[in-house]
Amino acid sequence: MSRDINGATVLTAIFGDPVEHSKSPAMHNAAYAALAMNRAYVAFRVRRENFAAALRAIPALNIAGVNLTVPHKESAARLIRNLSAEARLLGAVNCVINRRGDLYGDNTDARGLERDLRELKSHLRGGLAIVIGAGGAAAAAVLACQRIGAREIAICNRTIARARALKKRMTRPRASAMLTFGLDALTDAELLPRARIVVNATPMGLTTPQFASLDYDATPTDCLFYDLIYAAQATPFLRPAIALKRRVADGAGMLINQGELAFKLFNRIAPPAGVMKAALLESLGRNHL
Ligand code: NAP
Repeated sequence: MSRDINGATVLTAIFGDPVEHSKSPAMHNAAYAALAMNRAYVAFRVRRENFAAALRAIPALNIAGVNLTVPHKESAARLIRNLSAEARLLGAVNCVINRRGDLYGDNTDARGLERDLRELKSHLRGGLAIVIGAGGAAAAAVLACQRIGAREIAICNRTIARARALKKRMTRPRASAMLTFGLDALTDAELLPRARIVVNATPMGLTTPQFASLDYDATPTDCLFYDLIYAAQATPFLRPAIALKRRVADGAGMLINQGELAFKLFNRIAPPAGVMKAALLESLGRNHL
């Protein structure tokens, strides 16, 4: 479906560095085409030192909304005054909405993951979730697991102090109990047999050829392995789980869900069902999630 860019076209965008790999332009533009909207979504490579200037350009250029990716999510939470409660809790913004010239920061990562985990029927309620990582994506994973009703969440991170800081930030009355560990806990004979889900919220496997040592065999046969990384092929984190016939999912479902939520925030209309999913799968060269 080809569309004309003309003098009335309104832009939405993603800011990141690097950003060339982003699948968001394909997903959002497919939805604009399906809705015949005179809008276009583009990717801007914004270096860290130019981020504050790029934020100021959003109202100046009448850009309707902007997604943020590495390395801007946390700095946006410090720079934007008007934040959703969720963006404030996560300390990260992945959606900037231009409200008549005022910027509003929100975060759709946790809601996107929560929706995907519910669709996957993760059986997490009342059980143990292991979340690997302690950055912004791990915070979103912890919140999603809390909302689904995990009884306990074990945060395992290379830097244990960051795991403890995340636990402190995410501890709320009546929410799941939280435990913190280093990555050595991923071979712990007491922890792994109780896991209902193991979530990778680090770039391990993307920026490194190998994943950390993890005792896949010790997990229950119905344990779900969820990698926030998405790729054309199975990721290094998921491969051993697939070999053991465990349930697996990568971050494509989360990306679609957070993208659909962002589209609605930017354009005040929901994307047609299935359009963003089809665009993502096509750009990944896959025919299923
Ligand atoms: P981040 O803030 O940079 O967090 C990185 C985390 O990964 C930290 O806990 C860090 O540990 C750990 N880490 C980094 N390199 C490591 C290594 N070589 N070995 C062990 N641990 C390592 O990143 P983020 O924004 O949270 O994103 C994490 C991942 O989630 C990224 O791959 C991102 O693409 C993905 N993501 C996917 C979606 C989606 O929609 N599917 C959405 C958001 C993010 P230390 O604390 O020790 O440094």
